[in-house]
Amino acid sequence: MNLLIKNGRVIDPARNVDTITDVLIVDGKIRSLGKATTDDIPQWDASGKIVAPGFFDIHVHLREPGTEEAETIGSGGNAAVAGGFVAVAAMPNTKPPNDSPSITSYILSEARRSSPALVFPIGAITKEQKGETLSEIGEMVEAGIAGISDDGKPVMDGRLFRRALEYAQLFDIPVIQHCEDLHLSKGGVMHEGATSARLGLKGIPAAAEDTMVSRDLILAEVTHGKYHVAHLSTRRAVEMVRRAKAQGMKITAEVTPHHFTLTDAAVAEYDTNAKMNPPLRSQDDVNALREGILDGTIDAIASDHAPHHANLKMLEFDKAPFGITGLETAVGLALTQLKLPLSRFVAMFSTNPQSIMKVKPWGMFEGSDAHITVLDPARQWKFDVNQSKSKSRNSPFHGWEMKGKAIATIVSGKVVYEDRG
Ligand SMILES: [Zn+2]
Repeated sequence: MNLLIKNGRVIDPARNVDTITDVLIVDGKIRSLGKATTDDIPQWDASGKIVAPGFFDIHVHLREPGTEEAETIGSGGNAAVAGGFVAVAAMPNTKPPNDSPSITSYILSEARRSSPALVFPIGAITKEQKGETLSEIGEMVEAGIAGISDDGKPVMDGRLFRRALEYAQLFDIPVIQHCEDLHLSKGGVMHEGATSARLGLKGIPAAAEDTMVSRDLILAEVTHGKYHVAHLSTRRAVEMVRRAKAQGMKITAEVTPHHFTLTDAAVAEYDTNAKMNPPLRSQDDVNALREGILDGTIDAIASDHAPHHANLKMLEFDKAPFGITGLETAVGLALTQLKLPLSRFVAMFSTNPQSIMKVKPWGMFEGSDAHITVLDPARQWKFDVNQSKSKSRNSPFHGWEMKGKAIATIVSGKVVYEDRG
């Protein structure tokens, strides 16, 4: 696992690195940064490319165990590295859910066997994600979880969520909330607004997210818990997170590419690839998310990769499941849609996700594990869902033109994905 990456623009925002130089990798670790020459190590000229700490998608559904026809840990791992991610955090809503150390251990051993990407399991907050009693959190931490969440569902019981925030502090793990008041959202299939009224579909009001974020921020404040908001989608929620951070609270938040790219207008043809939860919102919400990305209110971009078998997404809109795939389009969409400084871009995809989750950090420093993403910000390409490494095809971005792409993904010094064009 030796490699010399030459002449790349090396960016590591957590360590104030932004310089054109060489990266020498020996035995899967970064040996040195700086001009290097060597005869006996393979070389790669990265002139004009960005060499960054490997990207980490902290919100991914791998579907194994239980729904392997939609995705496996192996196929999801292949989609991850094809999208530029060296690592993913796997949400626990599998069948059975990851609510015990035995499931956590199974995911980790299967990942070592079949996934080219690193996989960090997220444990369920509550047993079977039923929202009734806390799961075996301490034992799952010993087995290797990087955080807890009941994603797919919120923890409706405020008393239980408060205890989760308190308990998780013992282990320094984040508590990741899918913010949705189930009473307010009940029966809804898309954003509640003019489009849902016109299409005759039941809406999910922005208030379903806002009221849950509001409650949680109060609980995070009184517990000093390590709280993370998954997939922010509304203006008011962004504004509440901004205010809480201004008051000094150590909370974090993520956004998905589809929420800052599309609006509820995408549902117009009853396209089930525009059905997700939280739903695509209004243009005003999209504007607020982009403001939150630019001013640092939002810490991370995560795909919420949610593969579903084609048979399910072919159901009529009311009955189809929520969610789209996203691992292979996240980086391209973010580079194309957002005009972010590159250091901020790398922070949102790599160093911030690493500090949100409980993982051993990697980066562009001597001695780090050589987990690296190489970007070509100028590469023009078109996403073809039929070429996807995922087992599922439920993406609304088929045929989209993008500018900017991950062209190499390196895990422990090994090039696990390469697209030199
Ligand atoms: Zn969710």
